[in-house]
Amino acid sequence: MVVLTALPVLVLWYYYFTHRKKGRTLFFLSLALFSLGYMYYLFLTEVRPSGDVVHVQVAVVTVGVILTLAALVHTKREPGIVRPNQASVHSTVTYYGPLPDRDPAFNGGRQDVTMTVSNRAGSSEQAGVELKESSQRNWCPVCRVVRPPRAGHCRICGVCVLRLDHHCVWINSCVGQANHRSFLLTLVFFLLTSVYGISLVLQSVCPKQHLFTALFYCPGVYNQYSTALCFTCAWYSSIVTGGLLHLLVVQVINVSYNMTEREARAALRDKTARSAYCGLVVDTGVYSRGFRGNWAEFMTMGEKMNLPSPAPTDLVAFMGVSTQEQRESE
Ligand SMILES: [Zn+2]
Ligand SMILES: [Zn+2]
Repeated sequence: MVVLTALPVLVLWYYYFTHRKKGRTLFFLSLALFSLGYMYYLFLTEVRPSGDVVHVQVAVVTVGVILTLAALVHTKREPGIVRPNQASVHSTVTYYGPLPDRDPAFNGGRQDVTMTVSNRAGSSEQAGVELKESSQRNWCPVCRVVRPPRAGHCRICGVCVLRLDHHCVWINSCVGQANHRSFLLTLVFFLLTSVYGISLVLQSVCPKQHLFTALFYCPGVYNQYSTALCFTCAWYSSIVTGGLLHLLVVQVINVSYNMTEREARAALRDKTARSAYCGLVVDTGVYSRGFRGNWAEFMTMGEKMNLPSPAPTDLVAFMGVSTQEQRESE
């Protein structure tokens, strides 16, 4: 109990300590890792000795924690930073020409990247001018790169990221084209482990109650230090799990409509999207290729990062198309 009472004070002090310099912070990541480690430690030292859980159940929780950490490490590796010589990587993912910053995307003009080849017949002079205009619009003065469509600059990390979804404070990293899939996998592993772990703890401290009511009504749970501690931690974990479950639902909906969180927010702000269920579903229809197509693209976009870049002429042609298209829509 002393630990639980002292924890908020300790956390506030730690937050103040780590937040004296702005920008990236390890605060939330360390808090998440500490919480995960502490919950697992409690599970091993308080719940397991009670004899209510069998070895297989302990093993399942352990595997769950390991898989969560492994997916987290993978997510932390690389979000897909835009490098100066990689500006053409964008053509490996579905881009219909519209560009995210001014969101002309929402005018609805679709143009598949594969169309660029047939449009290369235009005069090279015109293409040059268009490339210049396009470059200026997508030029990131901080990173000194021309951003491909759907890429965005993260002010916290100070880099441009391909198909930027959002900056996640909990992992202290951006979520982009290269790590979005493993980010979702981390969430899924954590939620499965957490829900299973909470149910085991509740079964142990409230054996007479039904699992779904035990969290709200568990008579006598505070009579013993051990059960009180486990019950309080089950509540703490449930709140975190609820928050992350909401995040997962939003992410799954976004992927189903081929939207990034960044595009969804911009579309809501500019009122250029169809939204339903209090903004839970945001759809501009610009990048969507249907439910299955969107998921297929999502599952493979990380691997497409490693493909060799197309010739620069393709990039010129592509940019020409996107500029031309935008003019048409204006
Ligand atoms: Zn940038
Ligand atoms: Zn970031």
